[in-house]
Amino acid sequence: MNFQSASRAQLEAAEAELAQQYQAHQSSGLSLDLTRGKPSTEQVELSSSLDGILAGNYISEEGVDLRNYGGLDGIPGMKRLFAETFSIDVSRILIGGNSSLTLMYQSALFALQFGLGGEGSAWNQESGEVKFICPVPGYDRHFSVCEHLGIKMIPVAMDENGPLMDEVESLIKADPMIKGIWCVPRFSNPTGCVYSDEVVDRIAALAGIAGNNFRVFWDNAYAVHILDDEAKELADVFVSAKKHGTEDSVLIFGSTSKVTFAGAGVAFMAASSSNLAAFKRHLGFSSIGPDKLNQQRHINLLKDATGFKAHMTQHAAILKPRFDIVEKYLIEGLAGSGIASWLKPQGGYFVSFDSEPGLAKQIVAMAADAGVKLTPAGATFPYGHDPKDANIRLAPSYPSLEEIEQAMAIFVVCVKLATVRKMLNA
Ligand code: PMP
Repeated sequence: MNFQSASRAQLEAAEAELAQQYQAHQSSGLSLDLTRGKPSTEQVELSSSLDGILAGNYISEEGVDLRNYGGLDGIPGMKRLFAETFSIDVSRILIGGNSSLTLMYQSALFALQFGLGGEGSAWNQESGEVKFICPVPGYDRHFSVCEHLGIKMIPVAMDENGPLMDEVESLIKADPMIKGIWCVPRFSNPTGCVYSDEVVDRIAALAGIAGNNFRVFWDNAYAVHILDDEAKELADVFVSAKKHGTEDSVLIFGSTSKVTFAGAGVAFMAASSSNLAAFKRHLGFSSIGPDKLNQQRHINLLKDATGFKAHMTQHAAILKPRFDIVEKYLIEGLAGSGIASWLKPQGGYFVSFDSEPGLAKQIVAMAADAGVKLTPAGATFPYGHDPKDANIRLAPSYPSLEEIEQAMAIFVVCVKLATVRKMLNA
């Protein structure tokens, strides 16, 4: 039924029926969790052979004893594995610890405090408040990094091609204190969009407007996390940056957190040689080197780009049915209702859902009352503030298929009931 064109009597009848369904769900005492994009136990099991895979061989291909100190930027085999898989020149890669978020946080901190572009390039030496552009909806932990470092966030809307670039460019033209932009360019968290070739090229060109201290935080967390073989490819941001003479503005990040073990994977960063040199100089004060044994374990397990991709195909086989259930419930429950919109992702970990304005918080609260925990409404916006109060991030990777069925049935009832009540009260 299309709620927008329904009569008052039809809405009242729908409200009575939905309220009954909602009460039935409430009394069934479920406890379901669709909050965070964690891989399921079945997925982490795919990499269980990491434990013991070295079988006592602690010497790398180059003859280095991996048990000892050293190797601040990683071992060559791990650099090669990421370079091949992500199509990045191996000379640009630095291997970190287990978390790409840590590398992003450190990059922002070093750029703010010391500068990544040599003498006098620290953002906090310029007069004025440092600001970042934050495409929305986006990843809450990017926003927390900014908040923690005192970087002001400026939200810019996205469509299916990525951030709205006319707005990004005009903001940057007007304000020289905008020093960065967060991007999740392939299977964005949460919308699932893949940035178009034009958007990639215009982002790579931004430093031409913003100046040498501007950095693009290119968080390619879901680059190889494909659900659909026909998924859109992402253009190479370094190729565009080279064309525009802005190679120093691009910092790429990624990890195996959703490839092997979310809490014990390997992260990398890719950047120009001058960015890498600056990053390493500062990193060297806090670390003698990352866990090289874990890097070797990953080399043994994944081997090369082909092995990496084959491993991701096994993940897709586990994830796809989960996303199919979400899509099925949304289509059956809400397609043509005129009260909801969402994008069907071709990869990544999320479905981004938009309700009628002013209802997301209420829907999340109603779902919680009926035993379904959802990501808090607003979490996908800087400062936790969604001005339309409409966006809800659904994360179906962790629960079982049966739990997703139950959670989605409840979610759809909550969306309809909240909307019908709002319409009746309007
Ligand atoms: N970036 C994005 C966009 C993410 O969604 C996540 C995980 N939810 C991360 C980074 C975290 O990556 P890591 O585990 O490598 O720190």
